[in-house]
Amino acid sequence: SRPVLELVDLVAGYRQRQGAWGRRREVRAVAGVNLTVHPGETLCLVGESGCGKSTVARTVVGLLRPLSGEVRFDGRDIATLSHAERKRLRREVQLVFQDPYASLNPTMTVYELLSEAWRIHPGLVAREDWDTEVASLLERVGLNPSHAQRYPHQFSGGQRQRISIARALSVKPRLIVCDEAVSALDVSIQAQILNLLAELQRELGVAYLFITHDLGVVRHFADRVAVMHLGTIVETGEVAELYERPAHPYTQALLSAAPSLDDWRSTATDEIVLRGDAPSPLAPPSGCRFHPRCWKAEDRCRVDEPQLVHRDTDHPVACHFPAEVSDVSATG
Ligand code: SF4
Ligand code: MG
Repeated sequence: SRPVLELVDLVAGYRQRQGAWGRRREVRAVAGVNLTVHPGETLCLVGESGCGKSTVARTVVGLLRPLSGEVRFDGRDIATLSHAERKRLRREVQLVFQDPYASLNPTMTVYELLSEAWRIHPGLVAREDWDTEVASLLERVGLNPSHAQRYPHQFSGGQRQRISIARALSVKPRLIVCDEAVSALDVSIQAQILNLLAELQRELGVAYLFITHDLGVVRHFADRVAVMHLGTIVETGEVAELYERPAHPYTQALLSAAPSLDDWRSTATDEIVLRGDAPSPLAPPSGCRFHPRCWKAEDRCRVDEPQLVHRDTDHPVACHFPAEVSDVSATG
């Protein structure tokens, strides 16, 4: 099927002036990213804070314009859309944030929050059907339909995130971008919200671009994972493949540090402690951007930037010395 979302050589970020009279320079928080999300699929974008994943989210939902490259929705560059098409895009791509309390207007009732978009997009739900539609949205996300006249502060954090999800669903989106959508919640509530999202995907066929810093969380939720480091994708693959055969040293470090939720860490690894903090996107390291922290770095890594190459059909890795490649070449 045709991808619902494609990022093509996406470069995004902001321009910053150096001093009062200085030249403006580009800070490339996203430095050339290619990603694809298919209808009904969950792609998890994983990386440390500051790696550029929120910039990806903001660019995908149109809050930020790319510096170069393309964001394609349904095969079309969103920069070329007409006004009417842009309006449809704003409906079909929804964003769910980490902090539902900040994104839900505290002066509006749940009923008002869920029906708000139906004024902007007439034809979505007829006025006489609003009551039943609000009730069914609340039921669908596991909330009591009789609580529609309550305000966000009358709900718990997990319930507020359910309201945010119901609000996103109210416009029948095809893609929901979740930016750290469960990170602020207790572990047991995280699992409930992820189960809800998975169930909604089965029922409605919605796709997720699920952004998180925590590889442990997405083990049972993702279809595919893309690991992001300092503005670039360093490894991507099917979830089982990536967890069982992580090939990039950065992915290995993230996995070794992820809390072990169950038995997935089949190959017992000691935690890999990375040296130093993530470098700034203001001054990315030469060559491989991971080399100052990589325990496998060699001279070549300091000068030669590795490209994301396909070792096999669908597990590309951006590293000069990925795990297991030497094993593969040794045996055949
Ligand atoms: Fe480490 Fe070199 Fe691979 Fe970069 S290219 S991850 S520095 S081994
Ligand atoms: Mg972020």
